[in-house]
Amino acid sequence: MANPTLSIVKGSTNAAMNHDSSQISKTIDNLNADKQVLLELANKLHSTLELDKLITLFKLEVSPILNLDDILYLPPNKQKEMDSRGRHMVSYQLVLHKKELGEIALVRRTRFTDKEQKFIEKTLVAVLLPLKNALDYSQAIQSALHDPLTGALNRFSMDSIFNREMELSNRNKTPLSLIALDIDFFKQVNDTYGHATGDCVLKHLTECIRQCTRTTDALFRYGGEEFTLLLNNTSLEGARQLAERIRENVQNTPCICNGHNIYITVSMGISLFQPEDSQTSLFERADQALYQAKKAGRNQVVCE
Ligand code: GH3
Ligand code: MG
Ligand code: MG
Repeated sequence: MANPTLSIVKGSTNAAMNHDSSQISKTIDNLNADKQVLLELANKLHSTLELDKLITLFKLEVSPILNLDDILYLPPNKQKEMDSRGRHMVSYQLVLHKKELGEIALVRRTRFTDKEQKFIEKTLVAVLLPLKNALDYSQAIQSALHDPLTGALNRFSMDSIFNREMELSNRNKTPLSLIALDIDFFKQVNDTYGHATGDCVLKHLTECIRQCTRTTDALFRYGGEEFTLLLNNTSLEGARQLAERIRENVQNTPCICNGHNIYITVSMGISLFQPEDSQTSLFERADQALYQAKKAGRNQVVCE
């Protein structure tokens, strides 16, 4: 299985305590004798491209063999201290073809023997390629659904997310609100500072909005300098309060870019989903309210 572009770098191993390995060693010996088991493990892991499913599958296969309490996984760039809660842990940094695949840790109450660690390393070799495929897949999905400049969801992802939220709102009888947001006089920003600085302002605006929203709120870049926010479980009044918070945050937070402090304002229109609404009718009412906000002088929020 040796491959120069593949590495599993061992991190921490906790010290030995009260270890009774007879039962486990027996199981491991059986496994060592049976390369077929590793092959079957690899085949099973190749059956999914979904990261969560892959880790769950790995857990289901490996935990009973080693009597594990848990397997912890942290994707790359999300690394933090793994907490074994006082139990024994072996952890590995996973790398394939110089691509970082994150960190994995196996946790249990008793110490891992050298033999067991060798076995773990073999199973981790089997996990590398399926893990890389799952991470690539998740990245591809991310790129397909998000606007590359701001990281907000893109137009393409609107249909499915709107449909799902409208269905849930109807089924659960929960309110669903939509905010349409547009930067005021954005053309002037581009004309004064240039297009690159305009792009910087768009990223800054996205950050200002994110500071005010919940993780369940879906932010879309609808077009150039126009955004929509779909808020589940949110009444018209709740949406208005959120919109006001966003408006104030944007107004009071300058975008610092290329040595300039750029202040912008935004206008917003809000509509509340009705059972008979389509995506288009819901959007049109928010857009009409936005138009009223522009007409009334900008830097304000109008509810339908
Ligand atoms: P209003 O207050 O009426 O909304 O005025 P406005 O100037 O914001 O609106 P207008 O529709 O006249 O101009 C929008 C500008 O947004 C024009 C376009 O150049 C700019 N824009 C659209 N997409 C992008 C982008 O991706 N980056 C940058 N920098 N500018 C963009
Ligand atoms: Mg505008
Ligand atoms: Mg516009």
